[in-house]
Amino acid sequence: MINYNSKRIKKWIIYACIASFLVLSILFIMDDKQRAYTEENVISDTFKVKKRDYRAFLHKKFYSKITSKTSNDLEKLELVNKDIDSILKVKVKAYSINVNGKDIVNFKTKEEAIKLLEEIKKPFMEDGIKDLKFKEDVSIVETIAGINDFKDFDEALYYVTKGTSEVRKHKVEKGENYWTIAKKYKIKASDLVRANPDIDPERLQIGQEISLVVPKSFITVVTKEVKEYKEYIPFDTKYEETKVLYKGEYRIKINGEKGERQVKAEITKENGIEVSKNILEEKIIKQPVTKVVLKGIKNPPPRIGTGTFAKPTSRGYITSPFGIRWGRRHTGIDIGMPTGTTVKASDGGKVIYAGWKGAYGKLVIIDHGRNMQTYYAHLSKILVKKGDKVFKGQAIAKSGNTGRSTGPHLHFEVRKNGVPVNPIKYVRY
Ligand SMILES: [Zn+2]
Repeated sequence: MINYNSKRIKKWIIYACIASFLVLSILFIMDDKQRAYTEENVISDTFKVKKRDYRAFLHKKFYSKITSKTSNDLEKLELVNKDIDSILKVKVKAYSINVNGKDIVNFKTKEEAIKLLEEIKKPFMEDGIKDLKFKEDVSIVETIAGINDFKDFDEALYYVTKGTSEVRKHKVEKGENYWTIAKKYKIKASDLVRANPDIDPERLQIGQEISLVVPKSFITVVTKEVKEYKEYIPFDTKYEETKVLYKGEYRIKINGEKGERQVKAEITKENGIEVSKNILEEKIIKQPVTKVVLKGIKNPPPRIGTGTFAKPTSRGYITSPFGIRWGRRHTGIDIGMPTGTTVKASDGGKVIYAGWKGAYGKLVIIDHGRNMQTYYAHLSKILVKKGDKVFKGQAIAKSGNTGRSTGPHLHFEVRKNGVPVNPIKYVRY
């Protein structure tokens, strides 16, 4: 058996305590957050103190904290950690993304900075991109930053691509679309499109979250790509004057047709938005056809009753005459014709009714003076309004099948002193 000296043991225990204490403090110093301890050159440069003085200061602070408030080792470290953080405002070596000479965001490693630049490019690396670069002068520079001047990677990415750390979102509610949301927040609908490049505005879902932060990215990714596509060529419209039509009347002589061309173009985009297009090749597949419209120059007749009546349509035949038919009194004549046939005023006069009227469907009534009125019923479209003065032969409506009607036709009625009379006395069909 060996006889131990108790005094010596005590002494070693004290040494062991001090040693473990120092080991803990060194471990703490080596901790990533506190790399500053090992970055001696940076620290001494920053604080303009000698390395030795600086360390002595730290140790003193460290020691007093522990001897005065200790309870357990973890707490000790926690306290010291906080204390030193606040006292030192430690500056450490950093890698900053520099845009046009200005440091935008700091990273602890160069790899993270490189990765961020790659992440910024990623969304724009589509098929067919032949050139991708930054518009700004972007570099990674070595710098010194405060220990708290770092963002985590995702925060940094958001900050650089949005130009802000602000996060503002809106949850889509029933009946909302980009226009109503934009109005609500006093922004432009086009900004919402830019703020949400991944969302199709036509397919908003209730409860979907959309960003209200219009990106003003610090870095602009410029891409160039060559694309081949087909596009329409619009047609021109030409007017031809004609004495066949009255002034204010138009008729299409030749329908316009869009042409088509095959285009090969170099498209330049900034952050995915097209900014310019350089057409490299163009091949016309189909020439457009110019639309020709006849324009009336003939002076219209006076817009008053002439006393004689003309057929209200240039085509059609009588499908049901005036008078008692199948036990019912028919107050006019029915003229069969396809829906959309032009209906003309039988004589000049004033429109006294233009609108829906029960079994008549869409109806126009013209008063011609001399106690004469004409009715045009079951119309598909009315071209005049109450109070309009019309001339004999003026287009007033398109025929149809509205109201109580079993097929497309015009119900034409002539009233004298308010009483329906047989129209055949006035017009010939
Ligand atoms: Zn009828």
